[in-house]
Order: sequence, then structure tokens, then C-alpha cells
Amino acid sequence: MKLEEVGEFGLIRRFSPRFLAHLPEGVRGIGDDCAVIEFRDGNALLVTTDLLIEGTHFLLDRISARELGYKSLAVNVSDVAAMGGAPHSAYLSLGLSPRVEVEWVDEFFEGFGELADRTRTLLLGGDTARAPGGIVVNVAVLGLAPASRLKYRSSAKAGDAVFVTGELGDAAAGLRCLAEGGDRSEDAQELIRRHHLPRPHVDEGLWLGGRAEVRAMIDVSDGLDSDLSRILEASGVGAEVEIERLPTSDALRRECKRRGWEPEALAAGGGEDYCLLLTADAAASSRLASEFAEAFGRPLHRVGTIVESGLRYLREGRPVRFEPRGFQHFGG
Ligand code: ADP
Ligand code: MG
Repeated sequence: MKLEEVGEFGLIRRFSPRFLAHLPEGVRGIGDDCAVIEFRDGNALLVTTDLLIEGTHFLLDRISARELGYKSLAVNVSDVAAMGGAPHSAYLSLGLSPRVEVEWVDEFFEGFGELADRTRTLLLGGDTARAPGGIVVNVAVLGLAPASRLKYRSSAKAGDAVFVTGELGDAAAGLRCLAEGGDRSEDAQELIRRHHLPRPHVDEGLWLGGRAEVRAMIDVSDGLDSDLSRILEASGVGAEVEIERLPTSDALRRECKRRGWEPEALAAGGGEDYCLLLTADAAASSRLASEFAEAFGRPLHRVGTIVESGLRYLREGRPVRFEPRGFQHFGG
């Protein structure tokens, strides 16, 4: 059987039971944005790692070294934010060809350092090796949080309100602009920037971690449809998403008009926005949203409701056929 027949998630489901069967108490792994190791004093260590491979995740003639350095850290720090934790330190492994320019590597570290400073993440180790087949970047990030504040994918309950902390679809639209080439409007350039330099919602994640009414949380890496599905699967619930409520930027809507794209499909199916997707007790959800807006000067966007089962998209309150698809390695 080929990998493309099981897909990325099918593969993870295949090997993980053996390693999850006998975990010690206070240890959780495989299946959330970070692994969690709880200590007796009530604090927890968060661990996440992500791999970026030339040709799969980036093309060297499209992304600058600075952007790649920044993004390789951003995607990891975002996973710590999704648990409600604070990033602590990063471990960076680089596979490089001997023909890579030293100045390229300098710039990579400029970008990496810029986000490390901004998110107070220390670079404490890593590895460097020759990789003849193209550039490989692996980053692991450790985070810290009181265990009581951690938000898991498995805690959503029927009746919860579903929120996102930012606009959706920009990064996916940016990627499409890159792929199509041609003349680039200012909007297209902005969308491409959002694809290359995503802002991980670290402060938002910390703030939401401190709110007891927030139940489940994940970062939007593969697209709302796919990432919400993971909360639903882990929690054994369903959801209704109101298509009109999916927040999109002016730049996205204008560029979609120019190119004949569907903004709603990009908002629901497009990945790599790296904002947070969360569910919260409905009774406390209006206050949560207004206090979030007060704290950050940006809205917490309500996009739907958790229900017993299934994932349905509604337009004007009625279920409609709408099948955005998120990203999965190997297909499947
Ligand atoms: P994320 O998008 O938040 O980084 P993924 O969808 O990549 O999460 O992975 C889903 C879960 O599977 C995560 O908990 C991740 O740690 C785990 N996982 C993925 N690949 C592997 C692997 N090769 N070995 C062990 N765990 C893995
Ligand atoms: Mg994640």
C-alpha cells in the first residue's frame, strides 16, 4: 500500500497507538499541537517540532532566506500559542548544500532572530549537516504553562461557540498568487507577505489560556475546515459554521474579485494563516469576545457553534453544499 492511500493523518493513526498505550500520568503526546509533560508543581513543559523541506514547503526562488528563517520559527511558536502556553526556547536543525551562500544563511538567522526576539524565544541548540538534495529546516520549540491553563483539541462541548482570532484565507491566496505569477497588485503582494511572514498569535494564545470559558484550541495551519475537523474528531462532537461569518481581509476580497476566486472557499479551505481557532462556553462567549476586543483592539470572530455530530456549513441559517479541503501531505 502506498502512503498516498492512507494520507498523512492515516499514517499517524497507524503507528501512534503503540506509543500512546502506556504513557505515564501527566504525559500526553501525538494528537495535539504540542506534547505535554506535567511536573508535580503544577507547571507543564510543551514540546512541538515542524519540518520544512525545499520543494515541499517552500521554493528557494520564491521565498527569501529572511522569510524562511522567520517562518520556520513562526509555525512552531504558533503550536505553543495554540495550547495557551508561552514559548521558551528553540532548537534548530539545518540541512544545507555546501554551495549555499553564507550570506543566505546569515539572512536566514536574521529572520529567525527577529521573531525569536519578538516572541522572547531563546535559540539554545540544534544541528547542522550537509544535505545534497535541497535545504531542510527542522525546528523544535519548548513552551511553558501552568497545566491548569492548557487548552486541548479534545475539550469542545456541544453548544460551545466557535471563534477565530484573525482573518482567514490570506496566506492561501498569497500562495496562489505566487503559483500563478503574472503582474502583482499591491493586494497580491500583501497576501504573499502574509504567506511568507505569518504572525503567530502568541499574546492571544496566552490570554485565551487564562480564560476558563475557553475549552478547545488549535492553530489554523492546514485550513479552518481541516483544523476544526481535528477538534471535532478529538472531542467527539460536530459543528455548524456560518459561511457569511468567516472573516476575510479587504486585500483578499479585492484580489479574489480581480482573479475570479471564491474568498469563502479560501477562508474555509486555505491553510497557513496561523491564527487560533477555539471553542468557548456559549454562556460566557459574548463577554469573552468583548474583552478580547478590548485587550487586543481586534475582534474575536465568532464563526459557528459546536453541535452533537457532523460538520455543516450554513448560509443564511440553512445547510448548504460547501466542500473546502485543507492540506494533507501524501494526499489521502
Ligand atoms: P500540527 O499541524 O499542529 O503541527 P500535525 O497535524 O503536524 O500537528 O500532527 C498531528 C499530531 O501528530 C501532532 O501531535 C504531532 O506531534 C504528531 N506527529 C506527526 N508526525 C509525527 C511523527 N513522525 N512521529 C510522532 N508524532 C508525529
Ligand atoms: Mg498546530
